Amino acid sequence: MTKYYIIIERKECIQCGNCYGLDPYHFEPDEEYTSIVVNGVTNSEISKGAFDDDKISLAKQAVEECPVEIISVKEL
Ligand code: SF4
Repeated sequence: MTKYYIIIERKECIQCGNCYGLDPYHFEPDEEYTSIVVNGVTNSEISKGAFDDDKISLAKQAVEECPVEIISVKEL
C-alpha cells in the first residue's frame, strides 16, 4: 500500500548530490548527476515515485537539504 509520493522537479536540479548522498534509498543520480526517484517514472521535467516503506523521514531530510527546493514529499 502506497504511503507517500516523492516528486522532483528535476529540470531545476543543480546536481549537488545532497539528496542521493544522504538518502540513496529514494534518490539516485542519472548519467548527468541529475536526481531521479529510485524506481520512479522520470522524464526531462520531473521524476515521481510511490513508496510504502518507513523511511519517509529520510526523504523529508532530502527535502530540507535540497538547495533549490525542488523535492516534495506528499503523504497519503
Ligand atoms: S538536492 Fe536538489 S539540487 Fe541537489 S541533486 Fe538533489 S534534487 Fe538536485
